Amino acid sequence: MLFDTHAHLNAVQYNEDLEQVIERARDEGVSHIVVVGFDRPTIDRAIELAERYPFIYAAVGWHPVDAIEMTDDDLQMIEQLAAHPKVVALGEMGLDYHWDQSPKDVQQEVFRRQIRLAKKVKLPIIIHNREATADILKILQEENAAEVGGIMHCFSGSVEVAKQCIDMNFLISLGGPVTFKNAKKPKEVAKEIPLSHLLIETDCPYLTPHPFRGKRNEPSYVKYVAEAIAEIKNVSFAEVAETTAENAKKLFAIDR
Ligand SMILES: [Zn+2]
Ligand SMILES: [Zn+2]
Repeated sequence: MLFDTHAHLNAVQYNEDLEQVIERARDEGVSHIVVVGFDRPTIDRAIELAERYPFIYAAVGWHPVDAIEMTDDDLQMIEQLAAHPKVVALGEMGLDYHWDQSPKDVQQEVFRRQIRLAKKVKLPIIIHNREATADILKILQEENAAEVGGIMHCFSGSVEVAKQCIDMNFLISLGGPVTFKNAKKPKEVAKEIPLSHLLIETDCPYLTPHPFRGKRNEPSYVKYVAEAIAEIKNVSFAEVAETTAENAKKLFAIDR
């Protein structure tokens, strides 16, 4: 049992061979996948996939890079989809200060509006953070996001920041970087943060784990993330796979 909590099977990179990609994931023991939408086309496609495959779920939200493009209609669409039986979270949402196509103040407002919506519809949130940790923590605090909690996706921060997020009712999700030899912080987080607060993800098609780094990522590779955590923590692969899957099912209220 492996739960990939963050996959973009809705990306154009899978247009040619989605069926095979999904088959390989099933063959490797991937039991659940959350496909994450972040704008209109990817949200539509995430819902389509969640409706077609019983083991696929959807998260719907608006990415900070495109925050400038989000309209009131878009937010309303997200609110309506929140009632869909296969929608298990809102996101990804957050702040991305690496790219500057959306000004910081616009990103922050779009982030706040989505947190408020999540509290209204009572769904956990999936946070995207790039070079914006201080503002993310501030906004989560000010908006009392702890009320719904959620996931710090592809977490790349320090152990200290991870603990602050856990105190705000968030789980820490590790992806491909934990398998990289030079990734000091994710390895420290994998070591210090208890399995009870960890999740695994691919963020495919991006952030491909070792030994396929540089190639297109896919959900079957989530096993390399679980293997790396097992090795760092000196526990069995099965324990990592089962505990992270249980954590995810509890957060997303799946199979209960
Ligand atoms: Zn992201
Ligand atoms: Zn993503």
